[in-house]
Amino acid sequence: MMKASKLKLKCPVCGLPVEIPGDVMDGELVEHDCGATLEVKVGKGEVELVEFEGSIEDWGE
Ligand SMILES: [Zn+2]
Repeated sequence: MMKASKLKLKCPVCGLPVEIPGDVMDGELVEHDCGATLEVKVGKGEVELVEFEGSIEDWGE
């Protein structure tokens, strides 16, 4: 069954709420209003956000 509802999580950077789609996939990147890029971690029935410290494109070393 698909759920179209959104999940409300907390931004680990600024602490404000972040809305993400309920069917978000593990490893998906979300940009928050504060400018942070957040990586979605989907665990056992739980969804977490962590600050994404890598780069989407290859910025070199
Ligand atoms: Zn934020």
